[in-house]
Amino acid sequence: NDDKFKKVISHAKEYGYVFQSSEVYDGLSAVYDYAQNGVELKKNIRDYWWKAMVQMNDNIVGIDAAIFMHPTTWKASGHVDAFNDPLIDNKDSKKRYRADVLIEDYCAKIENKIEKEVKKAAKRFGDAFNKEEFLSTNGRVLGYQEKINTILSRMGKSLENEDLADVKALIEELEIADPLSGSKNWTDVKQFNLMFGTKLGASADSAMDLYLRPETAQGIFVNFLNVQKTGRMKIPFGIAQTGKAFRNEIVARQFIFRMREFEQMEMQFFIKPGSQGEWFKHWKEARLKWHLSLGLGEDNYRFHDHEKLAHYADAATDIEFKFPFGFKELEGIHSRTDFDLKQHEEYSGKKLQYFDHEDNESYTPYVLETSIGLDRMFLAVFSNALQEEELENNTTRTVLKLPAVLAPVKAAILPLVRKDEALVKLSKKIIDDLKWDFSVAYDEKDAVGRRYRRQDANGTPFCITVDGESLENNTVTIRHRDTMEQQRVKIEDLKAIIKKEVDV
Ligand code: ATP
Repeated sequence: NDDKFKKVISHAKEYGYVFQSSEVYDGLSAVYDYAQNGVELKKNIRDYWWKAMVQMNDNIVGIDAAIFMHPTTWKASGHVDAFNDPLIDNKDSKKRYRADVLIEDYCAKIENKIEKEVKKAAKRFGDAFNKEEFLSTNGRVLGYQEKINTILSRMGKSLENEDLADVKALIEELEIADPLSGSKNWTDVKQFNLMFGTKLGASADSAMDLYLRPETAQGIFVNFLNVQKTGRMKIPFGIAQTGKAFRNEIVARQFIFRMREFEQMEMQFFIKPGSQGEWFKHWKEARLKWHLSLGLGEDNYRFHDHEKLAHYADAATDIEFKFPFGFKELEGIHSRTDFDLKQHEEYSGKKLQYFDHEDNESYTPYVLETSIGLDRMFLAVFSNALQEEELENNTTRTVLKLPAVLAPVKAAILPLVRKDEALVKLSKKIIDDLKWDFSVAYDEKDAVGRRYRRQDANGTPFCITVDGESLENNTVTIRHRDTMEQQRVKIEDLKAIIKKEVDV
């Protein structure tokens, strides 16, 4: 799967999806640029989210708050005091790591051992193999599982109690080595704040310390009353936003899974206190449904309910996705109570309350949040789509099976012979007819078979080939990326055929 991940990264570069930032200067760590195809895929994912959240819900509206916010925002939100990662340095390699990630990686290795046992047993028992039963009865597996639980629970407790010396002790007891150099010579564990600081204002004495926002949510909380009043919104209602967020993450080779500059798509749903259980359930289901509608495969998702809750939450779950490196968080759904609004009331001295006309009472609403990383969603879609297929004639093809609704280019128009002026002219006319509705591409170089392969690898759902017959009877062949089937269709029907697959 390491191999698969490498392929994903190189394919993303080769086909103009994702480049390393400032590559000419050897790149900037954990920062990436979206290229000509990537920017379209990213936009399509964002639009798909926006449509489902804002356009389809008449009680959800959008905003676009600034990245810079008044610095007190981050005191109120808790980020100044508590948005930290426990970091540890290796004294020999001078490399810095997240202590919790080192420990989690250690546990992941034990989990791999469990998977190996499962595979072995599945082979041995064949059809009679029952995975659930095996996991709950096999002595060796139970031993591994207990070890994982003990380690993670001790780490969780130590971090919660800010007992960083114990986190270090755990790393030493487990004899965890620096993954790069193999050295076990560690420094103490220290907390580092993840926010990027900057300054507002020109003169040295009047400049104000600001932070680049580490999440988009706070822009929604501080605008809650403005939106509620000007939009005459009635509870329950939601405010949605997409935009950049910044975190000074310590990362090693995770591509766009964990970046220092990334984009979030968040929605805060304001509800009556007491109804959070019901809305938590509602948004869990609604968000999973959104993911499943893209057809990436039901087995690739799972919920991970949090037992250990952040101080502001009374329930939380992650939607995890099966990335090439295993199941990892893709989206978070959090029941945040009235924590954020109350904090902003306290720090600003202004009331952020809602007057409920039906019940004739004022209250601070509770909040149900859905928060998904756009870049992480991009990685989920892209890595899932990239496939190597064995064909009947013993060749393989690389195909990027992106959901048609998200594909950067919906159709490529190919004149069979590029030197044939009439074919080229008709191809360009077809492009003119389609390009207001869909993003389309023109491709005339190489034999048509090679052009098909190129478009397959690019993720283009349709290839439309214009040939001699097209000039006689106004028909073309349309080839479907996933099935490789070709149909002869009327040019005038193209728009409807493409639309049918692109609109989900
Ligand atoms: P993680 O545990 O992976 O660090 P988190 O729990 O800190 O994530 P949240 O603060 O809940 O994440 O942010 C919501 C979503 O934003 C995450 O589910 C993820 O998709 C995305 N996200 C968070 N941090 C990053 C990052 N550094 N790069 C890309 N996406 C991110």
